Amino acid sequence: MAATVAGAAARYRGRFAPSPTGDLHFGSLVAALASHADARAAGGQWLLRIEDVDIARVRAGASDAILATLERFGFTWDGPVWRQSLRGDVYAAALERLHALGLLYACACSRRELAGVKPGAIGERVYPGFCRDRALRPGFSQAADSGFAWRLRVPAAPVGFVDRHYGPQSQDLAADVGDFILRRRDGLYAYQLAVVVDDAEQGISDVVRGADLLASTARQIYLQRSLGCATPRYLHVPVAVDAQGNKLSKQFRAPALAGDPLPTLLAAWRFLGQPAPAEDPASVAAFWAFAISSWDPRRLPRAPVVPAPPTFGGRPAPSPQR
Ligand code: GLU
Repeated sequence: MAATVAGAAARYRGRFAPSPTGDLHFGSLVAALASHADARAAGGQWLLRIEDVDIARVRAGASDAILATLERFGFTWDGPVWRQSLRGDVYAAALERLHALGLLYACACSRRELAGVKPGAIGERVYPGFCRDRALRPGFSQAADSGFAWRLRVPAAPVGFVDRHYGPQSQDLAADVGDFILRRRDGLYAYQLAVVVDDAEQGISDVVRGADLLASTARQIYLQRSLGCATPRYLHVPVAVDAQGNKLSKQFRAPALAGDPLPTLLAAWRFLGQPAPAEDPASVAAFWAFAISSWDPRRLPRAPVVPAPPTFGGRPAPSPQR
């Protein structure tokens, strides 16, 4: 019924949330394309959020460059662009709430103390809980560089969810991650906290992003539950890797998206397992009309990582000269 369809469309809110650490590359384009096509195919909204919470990693000019590239590639977004660097007070309030619930503790572990900790099943160091029962009681102040990080106590029970593409997932946070950091010693808020607070406040119904973040999703869902926020639907899409199997990134010198957007959009479309149009679209607008009408996430490749086409594949940074 038309009313039901319109109702569903009104509820869909997607987002793209790049970190401005460098230019957009093929890997980030793939995630943006999937998220935009999924939102627009559902008649939904698509929001843009600059995840510059880790100010030390922000590259000057990168956020403007990302917006300009998205525009050139025909992306359209709804409402103003959010910037995490302006939202410290909101993250502080969320942290206070968790603190009042008794879910946080202060951690004084130094990098050196944690250096010998072994990575767990998902390749991350599992925090062994050294400070969990130390009952350090520094004031819960927002002052930067208080010398303490703040960690969230995680439960011993598994956290499960059903990914729209990869199906049922389950993670034992205690075994795979341990109590994780929400505010660092230097006073900066962690991605996991900022992303959960912002997804909730922006009313995001559907998160579409790279499969490298599948392993973060259980942490985010546990945080949503702790804060009393709704859990969005999740659709993770394959991540583009270079010839050495590294995720495309600035670190591995993935090339920025230069030149004619059309062939690049078509390459990203094919990367996502979507069939090429019968005829090459004449314009970026024509590409999007085609993409939005034919997007089908059931065609996504099963593998969580897929090699990027060679032109977009990046190359490893040269090893330092000795
Ligand atoms: N800011 C993250 C990144 O650029 C994406 C986070 C997300 O989509 O949840 O990898």
